[in-house]
Amino acid sequence: MLFGAHLSAAGGLLPAIDRASDVGAEVIQVHTQSPRVWKPNAYSPELLAEFAQRVREHPHVVSTVCHASYLINLASPDPELLEKSRACLVKNLEVATLMGAFGLVLHLGSHRGVGFDEVLGGVALELERALDHAEDLLGGPSCRLLMENTAGAGGTLGRSFTELARVLEAAGGDPRLGICLDTQHLFASGVSYESLDDADEVVRGFDEAIGLERLGCLHLNDSKVPCGSNRDRHENLGEGLIGRRALGSLLGHPALQTLAAVLEVPGPERNGPTASDLAAARAIHTAGLRRWRRRAGAGSTPQLRRAPQQVRDGRTGSRRGRSPAGAPSQRER
Ligand SMILES: [Zn+2]
Ligand SMILES: [Zn+2]
Repeated sequence: MLFGAHLSAAGGLLPAIDRASDVGAEVIQVHTQSPRVWKPNAYSPELLAEFAQRVREHPHVVSTVCHASYLINLASPDPELLEKSRACLVKNLEVATLMGAFGLVLHLGSHRGVGFDEVLGGVALELERALDHAEDLLGGPSCRLLMENTAGAGGTLGRSFTELARVLEAAGGDPRLGICLDTQHLFASGVSYESLDDADEVVRGFDEAIGLERLGCLHLNDSKVPCGSNRDRHENLGEGLIGRRALGSLLGHPALQTLAAVLEVPGPERNGPTASDLAAARAIHTAGLRRWRRRAGAGSTPQLRRAPQQVRDGRTGSRRGRSPAGAPSQRER
């Protein structure tokens, strides 16, 4: 398992790589643009290529994942907002791909009370169109689009494995689509994973509903709010209501070990993850692994159908071109 950190690119894209390295992150997550304004960033293709190159050559930071703008709502009933969302998503996909990111994490948006079934077809169509459009602009495959599970507030889309599975199905199982599983959102949506058995049930439930090969990365956060509260409130690891034991149960699961776990925690100074947060993540992971090994020694190793795709640099297979993301290319360390 690789550990990463969401970092602000406000001080520039390239300096963010050094900060990732300073805090001990192997994976860097950045927003492709300022997340709360429509205006896209002004990154030149040369800068994006340089970012990709620096990460490729970096001794410690080995891969990138991007996070799309929070303003995107693919289910917006407002034609103007929908049009803005479309353009924004295409741009975000383009930037993420040029940065060499293995994925772009997206919140699908909210149906604003209209109902999930009502918007499902439209959202799936928007996802496919955005990927097609980005690939046209790029003249090649886009990075994978990773739909994030939500805490379940209001009309947010993707509040359960079933909802995410239905979006994938409505998009014809488009191989360019994957999932980002956020531990805080999962907990807030009403799923607890305190024991190894609970965590195993979560992983199996994901595999059955969606398929583990779709799981592109984890967002690793503790929670300020209780299980089932449906609120998106991240807390530092071990300082929230999920706690070290539950996080360890999930992180140590044998089926998740090829994934990246990216911290989106407030950090001790409330300005993002620090070295101590990354150290806490690794300690929780190690303790979780130990418990899983002890259990395997006792003779009950979980058997799962498929493995998640490994963390990788660069582009996924194009739907229109090569077969989807075959052999992952996690860099030799
Ligand atoms: Zn997110
Ligand atoms: Zn997240």
